Amino acid sequence: MRASPVTATVDFNADGVQHGFLKLPYSRDDAAWGSVMIPVTVVRNGVGPTALLTGANHGDEYEGPIALFDLARSLRADQVTGRVIIIPAMNQPAFAAGTRTSPIDRGNLNRSFPGRPDGTVTEKIADYFQRVLLPMADVVLDFHSGGKTLDFLPFCAAHILPDKAQEAEAFRLVRAFGAPYSVQMLEIDAVGMFDTAAEDMGRVFVTTELGGGGTASARTTEIAVRGCRNLLIAAGVVAGEIDAQPTEWLDMPDGACFTFAQDAGLIRFCADLGDWVEQGQTIALIYPTGRTGVDPVALRVARTGLFTARHFPGLVKPGDCVAVVADKITDPTVA
Ligand code: ZN
Repeated sequence: MRASPVTATVDFNADGVQHGFLKLPYSRDDAAWGSVMIPVTVVRNGVGPTALLTGANHGDEYEGPIALFDLARSLRADQVTGRVIIIPAMNQPAFAAGTRTSPIDRGNLNRSFPGRPDGTVTEKIADYFQRVLLPMADVVLDFHSGGKTLDFLPFCAAHILPDKAQEAEAFRLVRAFGAPYSVQMLEIDAVGMFDTAAEDMGRVFVTTELGGGGTASARTTEIAVRGCRNLLIAAGVVAGEIDAQPTEWLDMPDGACFTFAQDAGLIRFCADLGDWVEQGQTIALIYPTGRTGVDPVALRVARTGLFTARHFPGLVKPGDCVAVVADKITDPTVA
């Protein structure tokens, strides 16, 4: 296969702190010989594991980029054993536009793996992670939040995997991250995800959903900053004491956890995130907006659980995910 068109202005094998770019040529109207410039920081100190930290895989999710731009300016080489690679804005064109997908090609980076060196800009970014960055990494932390259309109870998560040793290490790092909620996920549609690419390569992969609505709160940002540091300490890459936090473990075992809209309209929630809801309970009403005098449509949840994620904007369309409920489970990291 042809080489990646991306070049790094940093040397991933040099000791010390380097700030630079992943430079991807992109010829366009306003820059004939221009490039997409993805900021990267490498902090290396001798031999040890490599942690790859990524934000803005989706461009409208902010806790990860805040935590990682902050870490990149503050982490010192003498605090590290091994290597930390920090990429706060993985899909830089999407991040710069404040959109989930890339404004260049509408590419959803988290559905573009393994990517292509001769594909779209988004596919070229995915290919560089697939063939250059993931092979260097032992541990990957990929930050997500709800973006402009979803809102979540703040959680850190890892996947149920066929390799139980890989799964156990991922759950150990989720526990160390210390978000208010921790989730074991069974991915139903995993094709093209960064998660799957990393896990198939044997990497320990941890992700988050820390809030949403296209912004970040003080509380969810603090969870991201503390969790990132805790994970690096637990992975043996950064020295220090874990700032241990209580967490509640959740599971979303099947499709009944998800409630989708079949109508367009104005949404009235009848419960809030963090509420316990019973099977058959009305979680939202959708009011048709074209005329007055019409009754709303009731959306009922198909299973009992904790109201964990919801649609964020005030108007919904058919097919929108309106609500997600989760089971409470015992801590899988306690034998
Ligand atoms: Zn996301």
